[in-house]
Amino acid sequence: MNQVLNLAKKLIEKPSTSDNKKALDEVLNICKKELSDFDLKEFEEEKVKSLLFFNTSTEKFKIIFNAHLDIVSAKNKQYRPFEKNKKLFGRGSYDMKTAAACMILLFKELSKKVNYPFGLQLVTDEEVGGFKGTKYQIEQGIRADFVIAGENTDLKINHKSKGIIWLKVKTKGISAHGAYPWLGDNAIWKMQKFLARLEKLYPIPNKEVWCTTVNLSMLDTPNKTSNKVPDACSAFLDIRYIPEDKDKVIANIEKLGDDFGLEIVLKEPEHSTDESNPYIQKLSNSIREVTNKDAELVSKPGASDLRHYNRVGCDGVTFGIIGDGHHSDNEWADIKSIKQYYNILENFLTKI
Ligand SMILES: [Zn+2]
Repeated sequence: MNQVLNLAKKLIEKPSTSDNKKALDEVLNICKKELSDFDLKEFEEEKVKSLLFFNTSTEKFKIIFNAHLDIVSAKNKQYRPFEKNKKLFGRGSYDMKTAAACMILLFKELSKKVNYPFGLQLVTDEEVGGFKGTKYQIEQGIRADFVIAGENTDLKINHKSKGIIWLKVKTKGISAHGAYPWLGDNAIWKMQKFLARLEKLYPIPNKEVWCTTVNLSMLDTPNKTSNKVPDACSAFLDIRYIPEDKDKVIANIEKLGDDFGLEIVLKEPEHSTDESNPYIQKLSNSIREVTNKDAELVSKPGASDLRHYNRVGCDGVTFGIIGDGHHSDNEWADIKSIKQYYNILENFLTKI
C-alpha cells in the first residue's frame, strides 16, 4: 500500500498538463523506471507520447489497463500531495494518477504470472480528447477483449457514457438600417424561435439524469454595430447524447422546421458495453469479494478514452477509486478505497 501511495505522490508532484511536455516526459520516465524489467512499446503522434507495456502479445490483448497521466491545470499547492483524514490530496489524486499507480504496480506484480496477453497503456492526452494517445494506439492495431480505464468512478462500474455532437445552427435574414427594421428580416429573432422549439424538445434536466442534453454554448452574428438588422445568426450547441439516442438526435432537430441550417462541427461516439458482458460479471464478483457489497453499474455524462475502443468493437468500462473534486481546487482520493481498488483488480486479474 505504501508503494502505491509513494508512486502516486511522485506522479502528483509533476504538473503534467497536456501542454507541459517536460512534466509529461517526467511522469512517463517515472513509469518507465518503475517497470524497467518489462517489455515496452513507445508511441508518438505529433509530439504526444504514450506507452504500452505488454507481457506476451504486442497487439491483441485479453485485458488492457488504460490510464492517463495528464491532468487539468491546478493551483501550485496541489502539486504538493499530502495525506490528511485518511485522504490523499493533490491534483490527479482522484483523476487519475492514483489509479494509474495501482495499475502500474499490478502490472508489475501480475503480468508475468497470468497466462494471457495483458497490456498496460499509459497515455498523456486524455483530458484533451485522447486522439493522439489511446486513439492513435488503436489505429496502430491495438485491440483487447476488455479494457479497464481507471477513471474516477467511486468503485462503481461505469459501462456507458454519452456521445458528443457539436452542432452549428445557422439562420439567415435580410439586413436593413436599425431605424427601419420592417425593411429587413432579423436573423437573431429567427434563431430565437428555433431555440424556443429546441428548448421544448430538450429541456434542461434539474439534476443528473440519463438523457440527452443540449447546452447552448455560443451565439454569434456578423454584426459589428447596433444600428443594423443582422442578416445572419449562428448558435453553437454542445449535445451530449445517450447511446439509445445515437441515430435520433440530428433527425429530431431537423424536424424542428425548415428556416435554419445545420452543420456538424464534431461528432464523438458514445461508449456502451452491455451489462451482461462476462468481464463485467467477473469484475462485479471481485468487487463483492473484496468490499462485501454488491457492485453498482452506472452510466456517466462525461466522455472517456473508452469511446475510442468502442468504435472498433472492443468492450470496456471505466472503474476507479473513491474521492471528489476532480478538476477542482480541492481534489482528493479516499485512501481505504485505494487499497480496495488494488485488491479488486488483483482478484479480477487472477480469476479470469
Ligand atoms: Zn480522467
